[in-house]
Amino acid sequence: MVGNYDAIVVGSGPNGLAAAVVLQSQGVKTLLLEGKETLGGGTRTMELTLPGFYHDVCSAIHPLVASGPFFPTLPLEKFGLEFLHPEVLAAHPLADGSAVALYKSIEATAAHLGRDEAYYNDLMHPLVNNWKELSSDFMGPLSWPSNPMGLAKFGIKAIQPSTFFARKLREDSSKALWAGMAAHGIQPLTNLATSAIALVLMCAGHYGGWPVIKGGSQNLANALANYFKSLGGEIQTGKMVQKLSDLPNAKAILFDLSPKQLMDIAGESFSSLYRWQLNRYKYGMGVFKVDFALDGPVPWLAEEARKAGTVHLGGTLEEIKTAEAKIWRGKYTENPYVLVAQQGVVDTSRAPEGMHALWAYTHVPAGSTRDLTEIIENQIEKSAPGFKRLILAKSSMNTKDLQAYNPNYIGGDINAGVQDITQIFTRPALRVSPYRTSAKSIYICSSSTPPGGGVHGMCGYHAAHRALKDLF
Ligand SMILES: Cc1cc2nc3c(=O)[nH]c(=O)nc-3n(C[C@H](O)[C@H](O)[C@H](O)COP(=O)(O)OP(=O)(O)OC[C@H]3O[C@@H](n4cnc5c(N)ncnc54)[C@H](O)[C@@H]3O)c2cc1C
Repeated sequence: MVGNYDAIVVGSGPNGLAAAVVLQSQGVKTLLLEGKETLGGGTRTMELTLPGFYHDVCSAIHPLVASGPFFPTLPLEKFGLEFLHPEVLAAHPLADGSAVALYKSIEATAAHLGRDEAYYNDLMHPLVNNWKELSSDFMGPLSWPSNPMGLAKFGIKAIQPSTFFARKLREDSSKALWAGMAAHGIQPLTNLATSAIALVLMCAGHYGGWPVIKGGSQNLANALANYFKSLGGEIQTGKMVQKLSDLPNAKAILFDLSPKQLMDIAGESFSSLYRWQLNRYKYGMGVFKVDFALDGPVPWLAEEARKAGTVHLGGTLEEIKTAEAKIWRGKYTENPYVLVAQQGVVDTSRAPEGMHALWAYTHVPAGSTRDLTEIIENQIEKSAPGFKRLILAKSSMNTKDLQAYNPNYIGGDINAGVQDITQIFTRPALRVSPYRTSAKSIYICSSSTPPGGGVHGMCGYHAAHRALKDLF
């Protein structure tokens, strides 16, 4: 490959796209290289089941696109990005057929939390009022915060294991809602800092909602790519980079890849200390995903769930805690935590009229090849009797399929590295800047750097700024 570029970004996930946009917007001539034929990494949308059913292959719900520190600053609407906001952000069905829910309004959420109403209002209002500064402060590497007091107040809560924090809640329904949020962290709920995951998702929801992207998450990637091109950036697709010599010369190379791939491609350029650090990097539990083509909306018993973009299944705090701990230990359960996204409640373009494209996944031991399709179906059927009769077609991916689809998902780990307290700020290695490698021109910009998984682009944003300061 030849060409004359100042910077190259390898991988077009949301972080690769964010890095490319930052660099090109500063006049750095940038080439974005993607191994697959289509752009987007974890934000692709495809017809996985039947013609006319458009499934988000990976990410579906976008709280951190809508209210993160970077993407809202870009003119992405001009490039086709449109958010659609479900009336209920997330519903959590309970055993008696009712559901507890997260709404955009703090008061509306609190009003359904019984004896926890006042506590929830008092907890959320100060955090959400400070969300803009807070999110900029913690969605990146460790650095001096713009609002130290605000961050300290958030940090004291965020550092707690979510099971410990839940002791302040009095209603089982509030505890279940909290557990469903914390379980997005894909680790035992007893781990330190799992409260951070629940707090971030809830605050982001109250601040900017939990939207889906009209037409599919792919339209975020397309908007970012088209904006990048409008700035003068160049994109090439269809060639997986195997070694550094595959790349044209450039001052900076940013890899939107996990440490394992970075080692395969560039390991020989690194110091022995850095290689040792990358080899010790920890990957977490995997994911088993099913996409369904349905002959109608899911017949949830609870009205909240029928209106929700996201539904959390798995029962009470105790049940979710037990399930996640078991899977972490390499075991399985008949009653797992299941995340369901029903984009069709707001986006009619995802399926033929009257039909629905449904997205669901559950956590599994790393590297699992077990087929959990039926277990996921059973979990949905429990809270939505008649669901199975609506299934027209389905398509499942185990952890091996996920990793084959995107080599960043080592063992099916969709965060490209476990997000526990030992790795939140120091992923992939303890260094002054986690985005720098030990080789002068090579940077890492994927979700294996702070602030970690999710579609927010902040890993790419920070890595690109690091490279700009160091090299340009
Ligand atoms: C099933 C699933 C559901 C998810 N749900 C959500 C959700 O609802 N909301 C949310 O915010 N997040 C969600 N996520 C997480 C989110 O998708 C990721 O955290 C995010 O995509 C990470 O972005 P990235 O840019 O770091 O890497 P990726 O998106 O993984 O992109 C990496 C890119 O690099 C390319 N690549 C890899 N190797 C090479 C190579 N050698 N040469 C060239 N190109 C290469 C890949 O093809 C890919 O395009 C989900 C993920 C999965 C898998």
